[in-house]
Amino acid sequence: LKRDPKFAELTTDHVKWFKDLLGNESAVLDGVSKDASEDIEPYNADWMRKYKGHTKLVVKPGNTEEVSKILKYCNDNMLAVVPQGGNTGLVGGSVPVFDEIVVNLARLNQIRSFDDVSGILVADAGVILEVADNYLAERKHIFPLDLGAKGSCQIGGNVATNAGGLRLLRYGSLHGNVLGIEAVLPDGTIINNLSKLRKDNTGYDIKQLFIGAEGTIGMITAISILCPQRSQATNVAYFGLESFEKVQQAFAEAKGMLGEILSAFELMDGRSQNLYKGASGNSLPLENEHPFYCLVETSGSNSDHDQEKLESFLEHVMGEEIVSDGVVAQDQTQSRELWGCREGVPEHLGHWGGVYKYDLSIPISEMYALVEETRERMDKAGLIGDTDEFPIVDVVGYGHMGDANLHLNVPVRRYDKAVEKQLEPFVYEWVAKRNGSISAEHGLGIAKAPFIGYSRDETMIRLMRQIKDLYDPKGIMNPYKFLSG
Ligand code: FAD
Repeated sequence: LKRDPKFAELTTDHVKWFKDLLGNESAVLDGVSKDASEDIEPYNADWMRKYKGHTKLVVKPGNTEEVSKILKYCNDNMLAVVPQGGNTGLVGGSVPVFDEIVVNLARLNQIRSFDDVSGILVADAGVILEVADNYLAERKHIFPLDLGAKGSCQIGGNVATNAGGLRLLRYGSLHGNVLGIEAVLPDGTIINNLSKLRKDNTGYDIKQLFIGAEGTIGMITAISILCPQRSQATNVAYFGLESFEKVQQAFAEAKGMLGEILSAFELMDGRSQNLYKGASGNSLPLENEHPFYCLVETSGSNSDHDQEKLESFLEHVMGEEIVSDGVVAQDQTQSRELWGCREGVPEHLGHWGGVYKYDLSIPISEMYALVEETRERMDKAGLIGDTDEFPIVDVVGYGHMGDANLHLNVPVRRYDKAVEKQLEPFVYEWVAKRNGSISAEHGLGIAKAPFIGYSRDETMIRLMRQIKDLYDPKGIMNPYKFLSG
């Protein structure tokens, strides 16, 4: 990949313009006129430490007008831009590839309004997901999205990636829950579409284009979103199973017996749980080891009633020998511990050095076969083993069973071309053959951009390019990613 020479190089005059605009020392990290490499480092590196950019300028606008002026200036001067939220994205989309300017939204962090009858929240894009959810919890509501990175990711970043998360099964996708957005186009135009209407069929639904666009057509500066009432009772169970067949049976039974109160059904294979245990030092909830584990959550309005339902479900699946062993959390602390075994997996798999991550939608019956076939392939290539001479620690699978979304992860001791060669395009071909998706919820970023053709045909890609060219004719927004392949 080469730096596109159409983009201008940053000068001290450019930097002076940004400083004059923002007028706030901490809002401009300047590595052009002085050495600020240490301060700038975290903005150049992604969460997995797999992608590293070389920006010399990070700007942090504090309101929508400032975002508009910044983008217009960059567009007029051919300066490339990377929108950045909490920088927790998993496809390298939030960090520069070369010297693109980072426009970080951390200072755009105000809740604008909340209506506790309709449940509609309007908030700046830079509000951290957990902050939004805590604010809503005090008002008996819940943000309709939850994920392991909630303490750092921003709601604007969530919308920009169309994040799915742990409770999509219950609350649906952001395409349904986001009612409106405020966004800024590269030429500085502010789109004010912060609708609070659930129904509004007046023309094209432009906001949908920004949901999942990964910062390639403009910057989202605020959203309005429909938030459900927080359930008064939440129950969590964790169980062990002997085969993926049984996992599927358990899921079907859970839908039948828990129906309207089922809020999450997550899958973890035994290997991912063992690695979590080894890296975190936490013990696992069940005494004996099992090849598969599931976490089931229910949310309803009556704790005793829900607990009874969950227990009779567990009794049924154990009686039928679908589930081998299980535990139901007795209090909040135990619920958190059980959730930790699922939410802690992505973080702890990085313990050995790095992780090759694949986020895939696959027809549910074939979901786990990919993990097994990938493991066999790596074994045959002599790349997997317990000692340092082998790059691969293990091949594991976990994910959102309820959405047929598998996370195939290959934790490694070091990133290695030989491993990459075995994984790609093998994984993508496998998924394409089954009409799955090579990016279920993390997006394309830089990691998946070259592979979009495995999930989208030429016509679809051409239509997407037309949209990109229409909204960002000079191509300054998050270049080298998304549709660049
Ligand atoms: P960033 O990482 O900063 O940015 C992500 C992309 O969006 C980049 O392309 C960036 O340019 C763009 N962007 C950011 N903000 C804006 C904006 N305001 N306007 C326009 N573009 C913008 N994802 C899931 O879907 N489900 C999960 O369960 C899940 N679990 C995760 C668990 C962990 C531990 C981690 C680290 C990540 C997980 N993710 C998951 C990945 C997920 O995409 C991100 O965590 C989150 O949605 C990104 O938000 P962010 O604010 O960190 O965005």
